[in-house]
Amino acid sequence: MTSPAVAYARQNHPRFLSELKDLLRIPSISTLPENQGDCRHAAETLAAELKRIGMENARLIETEQNPLVYADWLHASGKPTALCYGHYDVQPVDPLDEWLSPPFEPAERDGNIYARGSADDKGQVWAQIKALESLMATGGGKLPLNVRVLFEGEEEVGGEGIANFVASKPPELKSDFALISDTELFAPGLPTLCVGLRGMIYTEIEVRGAKTDLHSGMYGGAAPNPFVALAQIVAKLKDENGHILIPGFYDGIIPPSPEELKAWSSLPFDEEEYRIREVGSKQLVGEQGYSVGTADPRCSWHARRLYRRGRKNGDSGQGLGQSVDAAGPGNDSGEIVCALQGLRGKDCARRRRGDRTHDPRRRPLPDSGQQPLYPGGNAGVERGLGTRYGLYSLRRVGSDCGRL
Ligand SMILES: [Zn+2]
Repeated sequence: MTSPAVAYARQNHPRFLSELKDLLRIPSISTLPENQGDCRHAAETLAAELKRIGMENARLIETEQNPLVYADWLHASGKPTALCYGHYDVQPVDPLDEWLSPPFEPAERDGNIYARGSADDKGQVWAQIKALESLMATGGGKLPLNVRVLFEGEEEVGGEGIANFVASKPPELKSDFALISDTELFAPGLPTLCVGLRGMIYTEIEVRGAKTDLHSGMYGGAAPNPFVALAQIVAKLKDENGHILIPGFYDGIIPPSPEELKAWSSLPFDEEEYRIREVGSKQLVGEQGYSVGTADPRCSWHARRLYRRGRKNGDSGQGLGQSVDAAGPGNDSGEIVCALQGLRGKDCARRRRGDRTHDPRRRPLPDSGQQPLYPGGNAGVERGLGTRYGLYSLRRVGSDCGRL
């Protein structure tokens, strides 16, 4: 039987959707200084809505950049306290001409809403708020448990503000568990619980050859070429079987538990559909033995991963910089960085720039789905959504929300 709160949510679906679109129209891009006012506008919009639906102590908590949004309702005596997290900032929108519809004019196509932030993370944030509204509106202004809400506006730029806030151990965080809605459903209609995060580190490698630009006709072949050195460094990171060559990279990896493997194998996963529709590539790659190519989704959920990417569009690196991300559940990111430093090219001197190499805040959060919370959550989803699916244990790449 549908609960009154779910019935309320269904009845109010058109309004909820229209309100979400208003939030999506706010260009709260945290990487661009010119959008700082928009970020504040988004924060104020969320705080006002939390207050309107009956949450208490709704307010902005100032940080050095974009404010946090906080609210609570703590009158369910003897009941546990949930801390709900999401973020209201979004990524930049370049390249603009590749959008089928403008990024801040929400458009509905094939049952989806297309707008910057619709899936990361304003849609999820709004779902949390509307769930609270539905519960309060049908529960006489009360919630069945105690709830704190904390939204941030710097998730896409490193999350300094919330990191400092969390480190100060404020009373606003006192809770029994955190519910982080910054992930996705595995498939439409399939509730998903992500119970672990892979760690993530960044390092920036700057390669220098000669002391100044040189004419290739006179010096080519003799003077060291930074691009060649960079290519050599990158080529040393992985072998042709996808095995990562950084010394120590595989140390301390926590293998998935039998329960996790069982849960993963029960997911509706179609490798060809994944390759064609989601990845859009001619083939899939991965480490042998853990590949999606063997219909084993562990490749992307659990297996070690290393990838390289250049910097552009709102990222802060300039010039010849090349960033290297390395991740593996259970790895110590500091050790990986040390190993990376050991991969030296022959021809050029290299130096690391800045102190962003080792960001301990993006540590792995290994979890095998053993917490006593999960069976209750599973039952709750089945009761609330009337679906036979339960919650699944996925591990995905590390995110700022791991700090909670
Ligand atoms: Zn996000």
